[in-house]
Amino acid sequence: MKTIFGPINSRRFGSSLGIDLSPALKQCNFDCLYCELAPSATTDKQIEVIEVSTIINELKTHLNDKIDVITLTANGEPTLYPYLDELIDEINKIKNSTQTLILTNSATLVDDKTFSLLLKLDQVKLSLDAISSSIFKRIDRPHKDIDINKIVQKVEEFSHIYKGKLFIEILFVRGLNDTKEEISKLNEVLLKVKATRIDLGTIDRPPAYPVEGLSYKELYEASLQFDSSLPVHLASRVHAEPNNTFYSNEDILNTLDKRPLTIEDINLLFDEDSKKRLEELISKKTVVTKKIGSLEFYILHDNEKRKRLK
Ligand code: SF4
Repeated sequence: MKTIFGPINSRRFGSSLGIDLSPALKQCNFDCLYCELAPSATTDKQIEVIEVSTIINELKTHLNDKIDVITLTANGEPTLYPYLDELIDEINKIKNSTQTLILTNSATLVDDKTFSLLLKLDQVKLSLDAISSSIFKRIDRPHKDIDINKIVQKVEEFSHIYKGKLFIEILFVRGLNDTKEEISKLNEVLLKVKATRIDLGTIDRPPAYPVEGLSYKELYEASLQFDSSLPVHLASRVHAEPNNTFYSNEDILNTLDKRPLTIEDINLLFDEDSKKRLEELISKKTVVTKKIGSLEFYILHDNEKRKRLK
């Protein structure tokens, strides 16, 4: 069974070569409603385990590919892989300047060993879908004894120690974590987390259970409920329909002050006239661009320094 896949072009992380740490079956400590894999019973350990040498030998044959990141992922939760520490050390020996990234659901951060080994990666993506225990349990359907309060505490702690690029991902499910109350709780926690970028997503692929995602407009409206100092990014485009809205110059400045936008956001939100006036603001350097991870955002020149961007 092959563990390496790609490279694939990821908007959020660049050209990514994936390592699937559970290629044969889903092995996860969550059973999320929105999972693109089939529903399955949760587990807190892998039963089918691949040898580190098998992965490294396969990886070596791909290292000449043009890649920005080597992404540790799985059919399930990659931090359940029991030799992750050893694997990261072996990858670090051969990766040269290529970055390493892991996509994790954050639950195993409560384990000291996992917490420490994640510090060795160049980039970490932590999921955090909810703060309220009841909503967390309904969306992510965690393995027994997983406590969201402990996870939140560890996410915060990790963000202050970690030296690499930390991405937080929230995946919105209609009617569950998209309420004002839950977004306010997420906002409160995220104000204490030092993140490079906070990606807001929704259901883009057929989910494991019959749940619905938000439209692009609803996701954008949800993004406005987060504090404007947070590096929030709209990561989902699938339900995106152009809004073609007129923005006066003042609207443009207010919007970018509150929420930096990518060119894709602008193409979806602004009408043609507003885009032209944005270009004028860029040529006058009232609006500038700022790179966060692999994405470029339009931001006001005046608040370039004020934003909490790591
Ligand atoms: S954590 Fe990821 S793999 Fe596990 S159930 Fe949720 S979406 Fe699926």
